[in-house]
Amino acid sequence: MTVAVSACLLGERCKWDGGDNRSEAVIRFCEGCRVIPVCPEVAGGLPVPRLPAELRGGEVIRRDGVSVDAAFRAGAARCLALLEAESVDLAILKARSPSCGSGQIYDGSFSGRLVPGDGVFAALLRGRGIPVTDEEHLPVKTDE
Ligand code: SF4
Repeated sequence: MTVAVSACLLGERCKWDGGDNRSEAVIRFCEGCRVIPVCPEVAGGLPVPRLPAELRGGEVIRRDGVSVDAAFRAGAARCLALLEAESVDLAILKARSPSCGSGQIYDGSFSGRLVPGDGVFAALLRGRGIPVTDEEHLPVKTDE
């Protein structure tokens, strides 16, 4: 099984605040899989650390009001091209991120409120038929 994983879930320090979102459950799930780490925000040329951003009205806006939509979408497209070339079976992406979140994301008010929706990268993958989940909804592995 080939799995794409948000790099921050694997312990890479690519999160906006310079930290990571290491998940032991994800790392355990990945044992025996071919793993492709991806960080669409870094792939879009954004620095670490960086200001937090959220999706508002379909556009990714930084906390200071500056649009970073173009960088988010460019990075997502770059990562998608990589994953399509690698024929991934599943993407495990960080919950609630404006790039990687699936099913639920922050509402754009930077107040911690959540709304239904997908991050830019997760939406792109779903649109191409790549199954997406997050670290809180790992599927049960049937090959063990
Ligand atoms: S863009 Fe995705 S992989 Fe990169 S730090 Fe944010 S949640 Fe993690």
